[in-house]
Amino acid sequence: MSASFPPLRDELRGIEPYGAPQMAHDRVPVQLNVNENPYAPSAELAASLANAVSTVALELNRYPDREFVALREQLAGYLNASGGSDITPDMVWAANGSNEVMQQLLQAFGGPGRLALSFAPTYSMYPEYARNTLTEWAVGHREEDFGLDLDRARALVEERRPSIVLLPSPNNPTGTALPPEAVSVLCEAVGDDGLLVVDEAYGEFRRTGTPSALELLPRHRNLVVTRTMSKAFALAGARLGYLAADPAICDALRIVRLPYHLSATTQATASVALSYVDELLAHVDDLRVERDATVSWLRGQGLDVADSDANFVLFGRFADRHAVWQGLVDRGVLIRETGPAGWLRVSIGTADEMTSFRTALTETMESRQ
Ligand code: PMP
Repeated sequence: MSASFPPLRDELRGIEPYGAPQMAHDRVPVQLNVNENPYAPSAELAASLANAVSTVALELNRYPDREFVALREQLAGYLNASGGSDITPDMVWAANGSNEVMQQLLQAFGGPGRLALSFAPTYSMYPEYARNTLTEWAVGHREEDFGLDLDRARALVEERRPSIVLLPSPNNPTGTALPPEAVSVLCEAVGDDGLLVVDEAYGEFRRTGTPSALELLPRHRNLVVTRTMSKAFALAGARLGYLAADPAICDALRIVRLPYHLSATTQATASVALSYVDELLAHVDDLRVERDATVSWLRGQGLDVADSDANFVLFGRFADRHAVWQGLVDRGVLIRETGPAGWLRVSIGTADEMTSFRTALTETMESRQ
C-alpha cells in the first residue's frame, strides 16, 4: 500500500472529523455540551411517531415524495405562526439537519471562484461547508461584546463581494442575536450577487423584543432564514432542518440535492412533530428562564458572561479552560471547550442538571484557588 493511501483530496489529509467529544451517560451523566434540548418526547408523542413510521414502513419499497410537498406545507404554516408572514410552501426547503441545508446552499451558490464570509467567533462548521464545496472562505471579526460593527461589516462585504454571508442569530458559541437593522444593511450590501443566510438554529430561544429575520423576508429577496428541529423542537435525533427564502432560491436547491434526500421516515416523523408543536415547544420558556438565571449566577461568581439569546451560555475567562472543563467532567458534568481562548460554553439543561453544573463549577473553581 502506498504511504498516501487512501487517495484523499490533499486538503482533507490529516483533518479530524468535526464533532464534540461524546461520552457515555453512565460516566458523565449531565450532558450540557451540544445544545440539545434536555426534554425527551412524551410517551404519547413517541407512540404517534411510532404509529406514523409503521404506516410508512408498509411502503418502504417505494421512494419517498422527492418534493416533500406535505411537509413543506406544514413547515410554511409553522413559520407563519412564528414570525413569518405569507410564507408559501414553495418558499420552504428542508434537508437532514440545517447543516445539510446550508451545505446545499453553498453547493448551489458557492463553489470555485466564489467566496463565503462570516464573522468570528462563530459556528465552526461554516468553514467546513466552504471547504467541502471548494468555496473560498473569509472571516471578519465581531466586537468585544460579540456584536457586529455594522459599518465595518458592510465595508468588508463591499470589499470582498461574497456570494454567501453566513450569520447565525443567535450566534453559536456566543449566544448573540442580530438586530433587524444588521440583517437589512447586510442584505443591501450583498445585493443581487449574493445571499445573506441568517442561521436561526436557536431562533425560538430569543429574548422577548428580538425579532426573527423571517419578518424581513418580504423586503429582501436575497435573504435566507434557516431553522432546525434539533434545538427548540427537541428532535435532534430526527435530523430535520429547513429554510425560508424566495421560491427561486428553493427551486435552485433542487438542482444540487441528492434525489430522495429526505427519507419517508424522516418526512413522517417531522410531520407528526409539527402536529405536536405546542408540546414540543412547551419547555422553551423554562429553558429561557433557566438560561437567564445561569447568566446571573455566573456573573455573581465574578465571571465574564456573554449575553445570550440561545439555549447556551458562554462564560470565562479561565487561564486554563481545559483544566476547568476537566474538573467538571470529573464531577459528572460535560460542557464544551469552544469559543475564544479562555471561554467555555454550557448548554441549558433541566433545573436539576443546572444545579449539578453550578455545584461542579463551584467545587472546581474552589479546588483551583
Ligand atoms: N447552526 C448552528 C449555529 C448550530 O449551532 C447548529 C448545531 N450545533 C446547526 C446550525 C446545525 O444543527 P442541525 O444540523 O442539527 O440542524
